[in-house]
Amino acid sequence: MKKPNDKKTKKEKIGLIKTAGIVVPYIIKTAPKLFIISCFVFILQTVLQSLQIFLLEDTFGGAAAFAEGKGNVGSFVFAICAFIATYIISLCLSPIANYVDTKFNQLSSNRQKLDMYEKMSRLEPIIFEDTDKLDDIEKANNGIDAARNFVSTAKQIFLSHIPYITVVAVYLVKREPLLMFAMLLIFMPTFFQQYMIKKLYRDKEDESAPIRRKKDYYSECMTSPQYYKETRNLGAVKFFIGRYRKISGELIKLDVKTANKKEIFYTLTTAVSLIGTLSVYYLLFLFLMNGRISVGEFAAVYSSIGIIEGRLHNLFYGSIGAISQELPNLENYIRFLRLPCERAPEKEIDQYAEIELKNVKFSYPNQEGFAVDGISFKISPRETVAIVGENGSGKSTLIKLITGYYVPCEGEVTYNCIPTSNMAFSSVAKHLSAVYQRYPSYATTLRENLILGDTEKDVTYEELTKACAMAGFTPDEEWLPSGLETMLSREFDDGVGLSGGQNQRISIARSFYRDSDIIVLDEPTAAIDPIEEARIYGRFAELSRGRTSFIVTHRLASVKVADRIIMMKNGKAIETGTHEELMELNGEYRRMFDSQRQWYEDDGE
Ligand code: ADP
Ligand code: MG
Repeated sequence: MKKPNDKKTKKEKIGLIKTAGIVVPYIIKTAPKLFIISCFVFILQTVLQSLQIFLLEDTFGGAAAFAEGKGNVGSFVFAICAFIATYIISLCLSPIANYVDTKFNQLSSNRQKLDMYEKMSRLEPIIFEDTDKLDDIEKANNGIDAARNFVSTAKQIFLSHIPYITVVAVYLVKREPLLMFAMLLIFMPTFFQQYMIKKLYRDKEDESAPIRRKKDYYSECMTSPQYYKETRNLGAVKFFIGRYRKISGELIKLDVKTANKKEIFYTLTTAVSLIGTLSVYYLLFLFLMNGRISVGEFAAVYSSIGIIEGRLHNLFYGSIGAISQELPNLENYIRFLRLPCERAPEKEIDQYAEIELKNVKFSYPNQEGFAVDGISFKISPRETVAIVGENGSGKSTLIKLITGYYVPCEGEVTYNCIPTSNMAFSSVAKHLSAVYQRYPSYATTLRENLILGDTEKDVTYEELTKACAMAGFTPDEEWLPSGLETMLSREFDDGVGLSGGQNQRISIARSFYRDSDIIVLDEPTAAIDPIEEARIYGRFAELSRGRTSFIVTHRLASVKVADRIIMMKNGKAIETGTHEELMELNGEYRRMFDSQRQWYEDDGE
């Protein structure tokens, strides 16, 4: 069986250069002015520190000459004053640099997050059914900070460490090249170690993302408003705590394992570097004794060794180490930025378009078999179509294909001959008002909940109350103490908690508030009693007059009014016709109808 969605592709490695090419310009653009200021401050600090090497040489050289009674007091004092001046300016620059960096981080991370939400809103909906992709999105979140750290580190490396170390290197090569080689011994081994560490963290990140997602889920089962009550009622807290503890243990083990390996690498490096440091001191002392370097040069190098070592340490253990650790997160972030957005630009589709399905097949990512398996039919404008069948027969999936939310793996769905694979989902969404099975109400006021159905429309009191009436309630009811202004969440002050049925009524009202030529009702009534459900379906039938409408249900009493009924089983449309035709056919539909007959007869229908 061909399954186009079922690609468990090996993750593409993006690499350092490409990563930098994407991340650096992006981060600079999030707050360009602050970035330039912070670069300027950085360069100034580096210049001052480089200058200090030469000023130190002059100071100590001058002091030695002065002690021997042949020096020039003026230039000696000048060197000391200049050195102190650079020192004071450096001190003053430090808080400025911190301030600019903090400000930059705030602005930039805000911008990044907004960009991320915007991107999420444009992703292909099917991505949210794919656990691999969900892992990627979760990992991308960790990459938000990594991206900024990456740029800040690159800035340190290129504007501070490299220029300073170059100045020192040139200084050393001019005086005693041998000192330069000893310096190299300090950090050469680290190159290799950093490569290993990068790999270590990439592997760890891949391994831990699915585990972390599970952990978050167990936590949600115990704490989120959605699960909390059920979990308490079942007495299942212990169960989830057990799961949570076990999975936390796994995560900790993974962390410890990685940290241990990293420490071993670091210890080895330090040992080799120590040999380098000792050789520099030894050579320095030797050269001074031999007279190969002057007292001034000795002092300049001797007092710079600390700084150089600090920087080398910073560069290799800090900066490059940090980049190595962050690179896997960053690659995930870039992968997220590159996830395919909506399949095509938005297309203008006609109102009341003819919708056609041609041998439509669909399977969910990483799932065997087809959830919708070769369905073809045409829906005329203003027709009412009922899609019925047992749970799991593929009704909801079919609706998501018809409305262009998903794109078929094979075959196509067209609106006046334009396939949904050739248009953004928003092209159909503009024409659509739909209530699905699990639709939440938002933690805003009732009025805002309704207005979210169509934010473009001029709001009138009549329209709002009409929408409520369609969903079977009025804003004056007791459970809405402040009417339309009632805050629908206990999470906020003065908010009210809603029952499942009340929540569903509000989402139904929201979709009734939206004017549209295509309407969908996909079993949103699970938490509503059967009598009220029959009423809601009745009002929906009223509303659907003159519009293209789809009723999805496994309760057949509500579908007699439909122009056409499609009976689904295992992803296939096994029977099609009006209620009378299907009853006559004496097949699956009739069998299901008869088995449910008793419910409605008891309701007095
Ligand atoms: P219905 O609406 O008739 O109850 P659905 O369309 O929801 O049926 O489901 C059809 C089939 O697809 C079922 O076998 C279900 O398990 C599977 N399915 C539904 N949603 C997903 C999903 N997000 N990922 C994987 N499989 C799914
Ligand atoms: Mg369903």
